Amino acid sequence: MKWSEIYLKTLKEVPSGAHISSHILLLRSGLISMSSQGIYVYNTLFLRSLQKLSNLIKKELEKNQAREILMPMVQSKEIWEESGRWNKFEGLLLKMESRTGAKLCLGPTHEELIINFVKPGLSSWRDMPLNLYQIQTKYRDEIRPRFGLMRAREFLMKDAYSFDTCFETAFQSYQKMFQAYQNIFNQLEVDYVVVKADSGAIGGNHSEEFHILAKAGEDELLVSQDMSANIEICPRQDAKKTQSSTPELKKMEKFATPHIKTIDQLAHFLSIESKELIKILFFINQDQNQASLKNKAFAVLCLGDDEVSLFKVKKELCLKEQPILADKEAVYKITGVEPGSCGPHKLKIEVPIYLDNYLKGKRNFITGANEEGFHFKNVNIDRDFKVKAFGDFCFARERDLSPQGFSFKKYRGIEVGHLFYLGDEYSKKMGLSYLDKKGKKQFVKMGCYGLGVTRTLQAIIEQKHDDKGILWPFCIAPFAVHICLIDGEENSRISKAQEKLISILDKQSLDYFIDNRKERPGVKFKDADLIGLPLRVNLGLRDLENNQIEIFVRKTGEKHKVNLSDLESNFFLTKFLN
Ligand code: ATP
Ligand code: MG
Repeated sequence: MKWSEIYLKTLKEVPSGAHISSHILLLRSGLISMSSQGIYVYNTLFLRSLQKLSNLIKKELEKNQAREILMPMVQSKEIWEESGRWNKFEGLLLKMESRTGAKLCLGPTHEELIINFVKPGLSSWRDMPLNLYQIQTKYRDEIRPRFGLMRAREFLMKDAYSFDTCFETAFQSYQKMFQAYQNIFNQLEVDYVVVKADSGAIGGNHSEEFHILAKAGEDELLVSQDMSANIEICPRQDAKKTQSSTPELKKMEKFATPHIKTIDQLAHFLSIESKELIKILFFINQDQNQASLKNKAFAVLCLGDDEVSLFKVKKELCLKEQPILADKEAVYKITGVEPGSCGPHKLKIEVPIYLDNYLKGKRNFITGANEEGFHFKNVNIDRDFKVKAFGDFCFARERDLSPQGFSFKKYRGIEVGHLFYLGDEYSKKMGLSYLDKKGKKQFVKMGCYGLGVTRTLQAIIEQKHDDKGILWPFCIAPFAVHICLIDGEENSRISKAQEKLISILDKQSLDYFIDNRKERPGVKFKDADLIGLPLRVNLGLRDLENNQIEIFVRKTGEKHKVNLSDLESNFFLTKFLN
C-alpha cells in the first residue's frame, strides 16, 4: 500500500484535549481522528491493526470452541426491561424511538439480546455447552469520554457468552476463556496482570480483569503473591492480627478545635498524624430512598487517613445499590453540626454505626463532639456509642497485607478484558431454562467475557512508545515494514529496487507501506518514527550505487546497510524483529 493511495495526515503539534501519550500519538500519527465527543474515525492503518488484533482474538477463541456470530447493535426496550436494566445500566444506555414509536437503545453489551436469541433452541441439556462471541461496535453514553479510545462512547468490543448446564461445566467454560485471554495477551508482548474485580452492572459473583500496566491507567491495582485485586474490592487483613496490647479506657474529655473542618487540619492542630484520628462519614442507603433519614442513613467510622470504598460498603452491607454520601443538610439533621465536628457520641438521630475492621481493638478515639468547634478525646466503643457491626469498608493500601500476609505492590492499569461468571442471574430473570437428564426444568448457567479491542490497541501504545512515536509490536503493527523512498519512484533505479524489495517481502510474508510522498527525507523519517512500524527500509540512490539498502529497526534504533542480493537469498528481514 502506498501513502498516496490513502488519506493519512500527520500532525506536528500536540492536539488540544489530548493529555496522555497514546492519545496524542494516535491523533498526531493520523491513525484516528475525532468525529464527535468520544466517537472516532479509524484510519486505514489503524483499521489494519484492529483487523490483525481481531484475527488474533478470533484464533484463540476458536481454539477454545467459541464460535462467532454477529448481533444487531440496535436493541429493543422489552428485553432490557425483562432483565431489569432499562433504567439501571448506569445511565450509559443511549435510548431512542423509531418512527412507529418502538423504544430502542444502542447496545452497550449483549447479555439480553443473546439470551433472547438462544432461548428457543437451548431447551435440553444436550444443547450445551455453547459459547458464542462477536466482535462488534458498542455504544455507551459515557458521561465524560476521555483519553481517546480508552474511554470512548463508540468502541469495538469482543464479547463472548457461555451457556452451561451446571456450575462445574460453566467453570470449565470460564477457564477456557481465561486461557484464551492469557494466550492473546502473551502474544501481544505486553506487561499485564490479572486481578479480582467487581462485577459492576453486569452482575454475577465471580469476576476477573485483565489489565495492561501503564502509569496513565485509570485503575489502581494491588498485586501480591496470593492475591491480586482491583483496589476497589481488594480485601484488607484484619487489624486484629497486627494489634498487640490494648490500652486502658480513659475518661472522655471535650476540647476546643476552632475553625477546624478537615482531618488534616485537626491532625496539624494536634501535631499528630491523621491515621491517629478517627473519621466518621454518613451515607444514605439508596435501596431505601423513600424511607426516613433514621431508616436510610448510616455512619461508617474508619482511621483518619483511610478512604471508604463504596463498592465495599455495598458488598459488606448487602445493599442492592451503592450508597451515596449524605449531604450537609442530612449530616446536620443527624448530628446537629456541619461536617468537621461530627462524631458518633450522642447523635440527634440514632442511625446505625458501622466500624472499619482496622478499628477493632482500638481505644480512646479522637472524634468530633457534635458541637461546632469541639472534639472529644477518649471516645470508646460500647461505653460512648453503640456499634452495629464491623466490616471491611476501606480501600486497601500498599502497606496492608494480603490474606496470607504478603505485602502488596501497587500498579496502575488499563482494564482491557473482563471475565464474569454470571450463574443463573440472567437466566432466571429472562426465563432461559432447559430440561435436564431427568426431564426437570433447570436454569442455564452463564458466563460473559468482554475484551475491548480498540482500548487494547491504545493501551498497548500507552505502554509501547518513545518520545518519537509508537513502537508497534510486530503481530498487530498496521504493516511490518515502512519503505521510505528517499528519491522519487519515477527514477528507474528506485522503481526497480522497489520492485525487487517488494517481491522479497512478499516471499517473506511481510506486509509493507510505501511512503512515496514528495517530501524531504527528514520529514519522511519523522513520520515513520511517529507511525512506528517495526522495520523501516530506506531506498535511496546513494545506497543503490553500492547495490545497498538501509534497514532501520524502530524499537532499538539500529541501522544496517544490506546488499539487495543478500536479501534475495537467505536473509530474512524478520531476524531484525526479535
Ligand atoms: P470501565 O470500568 O473501564 O468503565 P467496564 O468494566 O464498564 O469498563 P465491561 O463492561 O467490563 O467494561 O466491558 C468489557 C471491556 O470493554 C472492558 O474491559 C474494556 O476493555 C472495554 N470498554 C468498556 N467501556 C469502554 C469504553 N468506554 N471505551 C473503550 N473500551 C471500553
Ligand atoms: Mg469491566
